[in-house]
Amino acid sequence: MISTLKKFFGYSEFRPYQKEVIEKILERRDCLVVMATGSGKSLCYQVPPLLVEKTAIVISPLISLMQDQVMALKERGIKAEYLGTGQSDHSVHILAQSGHFHLLFMTPEKACSLAVSFWSKLLEVGICLLAVDEAHCISEWGHDFRVEYKQLDKLRNILANVPFVGLTATATQKVRTDVINSLRMNDPYVAIGSFDRENLFYGVKHFNRGTLFVNELVQEISKFAGNGGSTIIYCTTIKDVEQIFESLQEAGIKAGMYHGKMSSKAREESHRSFVRDELNVMVATIAFGMGIDKPNIRQVVHYGCPKSLQSYYQESGRCGRDGIASVCWLYYTGSDFTKADFYCGELKTENQRRAVVESLMIAQKYCVLATCRRKFLLDYFGEHVSADNCGNCDNCRVSKRERDLSREAFLLMACIQSCRGKWGLNMPIDVLRGSKAKRILDMHFDKLPLHGLGKSYLSNWWKSLAYQLISHGYLVETIDDIYKFVSVGKKGEQFLSTARPDYQPPLVLPLTSEMVDGD
Ligand code: ADP
Ligand code: ZN
Repeated sequence: MISTLKKFFGYSEFRPYQKEVIEKILERRDCLVVMATGSGKSLCYQVPPLLVEKTAIVISPLISLMQDQVMALKERGIKAEYLGTGQSDHSVHILAQSGHFHLLFMTPEKACSLAVSFWSKLLEVGICLLAVDEAHCISEWGHDFRVEYKQLDKLRNILANVPFVGLTATATQKVRTDVINSLRMNDPYVAIGSFDRENLFYGVKHFNRGTLFVNELVQEISKFAGNGGSTIIYCTTIKDVEQIFESLQEAGIKAGMYHGKMSSKAREESHRSFVRDELNVMVATIAFGMGIDKPNIRQVVHYGCPKSLQSYYQESGRCGRDGIASVCWLYYTGSDFTKADFYCGELKTENQRRAVVESLMIAQKYCVLATCRRKFLLDYFGEHVSADNCGNCDNCRVSKRERDLSREAFLLMACIQSCRGKWGLNMPIDVLRGSKAKRILDMHFDKLPLHGLGKSYLSNWWKSLAYQLISHGYLVETIDDIYKFVSVGKKGEQFLSTARPDYQPPLVLPLTSEMVDGD
């Protein structure tokens, strides 16, 4: 194994789990490989075909990814080719069927449309594995669900004795279980690497939309641009991409842009310039994504919160691949979390919609968090770290202000109880802030004794407090289809049972940056 590794890849040792996974594949066992981006997952399916001289089938979502990989493999003297959707290259088919290739890449659509006779011929000469790259695409709980991936279980019948290898950088338990079940894996060997990226700094800031903020952002970026490393700015809409791009250009920063509405030629050009360091900054939607293997990205900025922490971790994880200290800033605004309808778009099943709302809720929790961001992220991916302070996130670096918030917590919880029924956070907060909106008058909530008692804080301040109370179990947020509603939890009930309008038991909480601003 080592000599093959050396001969084709020039490496002298395996990284964690690579050897184990390769051995299991050679024993013809199904495998699930869950490792962070850049940790070397591909090698797990690239080495076995070289050892046993049988073809490895690799399912990959994007033609452009396959092209890059095939090219890189050919340069190493490995026989690789791809079959695209609808591609009818006869000679590739004939060669493939004769077992000529070490690695044969294809999209899931292609894999499912190939005739059984194709697979039979290939089986006769030998298939050493079937790898499903970006395997989280099979799961509705993943951040990038693709219907085509769901069809892949058909191949299980045809390739009954071929080891299936799922690979992903998305590590939640739900996604893992989904991949195993959807691919009908049989007692798979599961390799889970660490997701901690010690060299990455994580920080979050709240912002209000407007040119004022864009100018501020451009100034921040210009501090980075020009000292060797590159920056990616991820925006949630194409409009934002264009606005930030223009502002950067006006500021004289060498920037490029990338989004789905550009021609593929313009996108390729933009990508190439970025990789060649002709640009300092790339402003993009998430269309600029898979397969970016640039080592010296020093900063990934999110202008607007992504729809899930899984996407956030993957996108921000594109920086600092070379192990050098790099930073990930996320700028969010309240409206980022009310986009469930938008993201649900064409989703049909309730499960899919719930997954979207739940993901947004967790992303929001991350944004308003007052404790270690890294710990929260890793916890979310099922990796438990004992240290409460990583020393490399905004919350761990600044000494947090704390304050007794018992009165405010009392008002909020009492108000949520008084409103009864199924409301999100906005209703009780608007009541506290003394709103006379129609929906409040209709419900006669303006007559509640608490109406207007919380005027002195902005609604973002109250939301930030609410999220702290949720994370400490005083409040509970639940989903009903795509609507979230909030209620008082066990701890909150205990608190309320001893509290009176003139007395509340002490409740000391750290202030989030939003609360410090409005305090
Ligand atoms: P992933 O698919 O997990 O994102 P890749 O397979 O693209 O990661 O690998 C990331 C980088 O690490 C590649 O440049 C690859 O050549 C390199 N790499 C993989 N395995 C090893 C190894 N054993 N030793 C050194 N470099 C490795
Ligand atoms: Zn931390």
